[in-house]
This record gives sequence, structure tokens and C-alpha cells, in this order.
Amino acid sequence: TGKRFPHIWQLLDAWSLCTNYIVPVPRPSTVLMHSAITLENALGRGSFGEVFKAKYMAKGATEAIEVAAKRLIGDAKRPQLQDFCNEASVMALLDHRNVVAFYGFAPLQTPLILVMELVPGGDLKKYLKNTPGIPNKQIVLFALDISSGMNHLASRKVIHRDLAARNCLITKDLRVKISDFGLSVNETEVTVKNLRKAPIRWLAPETLTKGIFNQKTDVWAYGVLVTELMIRCAHDPLHPRDLKNVAKWIKDSDHPHRIEDGEPRELAEIVDACCEKSISSRLDFQAVKKRVAKIHQ
Ligand code: ADP
Ligand code: MG
Repeated sequence: TGKRFPHIWQLLDAWSLCTNYIVPVPRPSTVLMHSAITLENALGRGSFGEVFKAKYMAKGATEAIEVAAKRLIGDAKRPQLQDFCNEASVMALLDHRNVVAFYGFAPLQTPLILVMELVPGGDLKKYLKNTPGIPNKQIVLFALDISSGMNHLASRKVIHRDLAARNCLITKDLRVKISDFGLSVNETEVTVKNLRKAPIRWLAPETLTKGIFNQKTDVWAYGVLVTELMIRCAHDPLHPRDLKNVAKWIKDSDHPHRIEDGEPRELAEIVDACCEKSISSRLDFQAVKKRVAKIHQ
């Protein structure tokens, strides 16, 4: 007698024990039931997951809300499960208008589902490539939005590790939100031995030589993203070099991302200051945001 139904938190612990891996479980308040989520059409897919437009029926609500639901592939193995749980727990730390909002995580059935804000404009890379005549003023606003979002990540001690135009989403009123926290960590710095999953063209020289990721390597990736904005994603960064030559170029050149084409030209100084080889002279996101705000005026 008196034995209460186990709290959801204990259930999650039990679940992670039986599946034999340690899950950095998101906050209990963010645990959702699969039955409350109705998947609709696919919005995009990656290597281990697929993102759907979906409806979410909150407990006690009379109407379902539109959301985006990222579903892990059905036969995911331990590393993918762990990465996916990590993605949810990092998103749960963030709350900013330029970061995709996290709504919750459904971990009690497979495939696991992560529920987030629906950003209907799709990814920034596709938008830049397919929209002719984007004015320079709009490009600077995109750069400003991304720097604000990244400054928030830095303030919450989150390293993104995969910042690029393909991982930013665009709203109907043309504001940008940072997304895809699949590689992100809640640390000041991490060192990895293997760069296999890393986006080589966006990597800083110290990442290529020592495997380091921190706020300053995110700032470097931001500089590369600004070049993507300036050329409207007409080609990959450092095109036409192939992947093998790219790493050598980033390590050897004084200003590997300096470009002669691309607009507006005012952003070229941001690229230089972000893709600065001396780490101590490289800007942090607070300084980046200030500099871009000045250009936007
Ligand atoms: P992956 O880790 O597989 O790269 P992403 O998180 O980048 O997955 O999502 C893949 C694609 O799904 C994106 O490029 C985008 O088109 C779509 N997508 C992701 N999240 C959302 C969202 N919140 N709203 C709308 N579309 C999204
Ligand atoms: Mg992605």
C-alpha cells in the first residue's frame, strides 16, 4: 500500500537502463507522449532522421498546434540514440527569437521524436540559392539575426559545431533561426580525435590541427556563413577546391575565406575578423553582434 505510480523521471531512468546506455535526458516537463503527435508531410531529411510538419495536442488543450517533429530512424543504434537525446537536451537549454524553439521530446516509444517550433520558410541555403535579387540590406539582417542567436548560445555555454546556411531556417517574415543541434555540446570547449562527421569547409585551423571546438571556432564558422550570405550560396565555401585541398588551404593561407565577389562589401570586414587565425584577436559573438549591428544601421 501507499506505493505511488513511478514518476516519469524514474520511468526514463529505467528505460535508459534497459536499453543499456546513458541518456542525457531532457527536463521532465518536456517529456511528450507519442500519442499526442500526429506526423504530416516530410519537410527534410538527414542521415539518421527525418523532419515532418506535425500536429501536437497538448494535455487539456482543445486544439492541436502546428509543430515540426524530427524523428530518428527506426533501427537507430546506440550512438545515434545518444546523439539524438543530446540534441534534445541542448535545445532545452536555449530560448531566443533567433534559435528554433524546443517544445519537447518523446522518448517512451521508438522511433524517438523531437518536437520543435515549425519554421515554415525552409533552410537558408535553399532560400539564398533560389531567390533572385535578395537586397544587401536583407543579407545584413540575416547576418545580424544569426549573430544574435549565436551570442545567446555562447551565453548559455553551448557550442553549435555545425553552423552553416543549411542549418539555419527562415520564417515567413524573413527572420533567421539557428537549428540542427545534432553536434552541439553544453561545454566551453571539446576536443575530438576524429573529424569524420565535421563540416570541413567550415572548420577553423585549430580544429583541423588539434580537433578543438569552442566559441571561437563557432565564430570562424560564422565568418564562413557570412561568405555564403554574400555569394547567396551560389557555390560551396572555398569552391572549386576539393575536400583534400580545402584543409591544406585553411591551414596555409593567411586569409582563407577572403572573397573578391559577393555583396555587400561591408561584410568582408566581418569575414576577416571572424576568420582571423590568431585566436586571441578573433572576435567573440558579443563583438560580432555589435559590429554587424553597426553595418545594419
Ligand atoms: P540533420 O541533422 O539531419 O541535418 P536538420 O535538423 O538540419 O537535420 O533538418 C533537416 C531539414 O529539415 C532542414 O534542412 C529543414 O529543411 C527541415 N527542418 C528541420 N527543422 C525544421 C523546423 N523546425 N521547421 C521546418 N523545417 C525544418
Ligand atoms: Mg542539418
